[in-house]
Amino acid sequence: MLPPRYFALIPAAGVGARMGAAIPKQYAGLAGKAMLRHVLDTFAAHEAITHTFAVVSGDDGYIDHVMRDDVTRDDAMRDGTAHAGPSLAGRVTIVRDGGDTRRQSVLNGLLAMRPQIADDEWVLVHDAARPGLSAAMLDRLIADVRDDEVGGLLALPVVDTLKRSDSDGRACATVPRAGLWSAQTPQMFRYGMLRKALEAAADVTDEAGAIEALGLTPRLVQGSARNMKVTLPGDLALAELYLKGLND
Ligand code: C5P
Repeated sequence: MLPPRYFALIPAAGVGARMGAAIPKQYAGLAGKAMLRHVLDTFAAHEAITHTFAVVSGDDGYIDHVMRDDVTRDDAMRDGTAHAGPSLAGRVTIVRDGGDTRRQSVLNGLLAMRPQIADDEWVLVHDAARPGLSAAMLDRLIADVRDDEVGGLLALPVVDTLKRSDSDGRACATVPRAGLWSAQTPQMFRYGMLRKALEAAADVTDEAGAIEALGLTPRLVQGSARNMKVTLPGDLALAELYLKGLND
């Protein structure tokens, strides 16, 4: 029997409302490349990844530009800080079928992947808004999860003291942080289990949540601050600092 393969699935159909920018955040320029291109390059350059699928909205007007290797190479040269990265030709499939929610976009992507993947093969779902993912983080996730019955995700132990706020924005309780983690991505699950879990769970914000709703316990693998999710305008500058120099 052949060993299971690893596929990447990038939901990239959000509008990035909290960023308040004219273009969706996954297309914001960061260290010489669009945010989404950093993510696609990381997966395309990783030898463990068989193929990458990215889900964009049906009326996306940016993705064709971002997929062009010549444009990326020219921009990277002009910027002087970015590496041109790998060619995406034959390594990435664009699925123009984003949903109203992240969950629906991921489900649409899983449907599009169906002809190429078996139920027991691995899917690594990764936010387009986390451009700091490195090859080292991918190595760690795959090594720690590939023999796991359930699957797992990158995550960071919570270090701050957590407060619950009342309706006036005042702290009304301190939440014990022992055992609490911030979920990151990639989240790595077998195709069949992931699809079944997402189809059954209407109200989840990540894949692990859907798996947990089946009564299963995904493995938590140490993530990194560099793998932050770009959400607010101020996050762009920090993400760029990571991309320009800091390592995992
Ligand atoms: O909005 P948020 O940062 O939580 O989105 C996480 C990821 O899910 C992003 O990569 C975003 O593009 C994607 N997404 C999607 N379809 C939606 C909403 C979000 O693919 N309807």
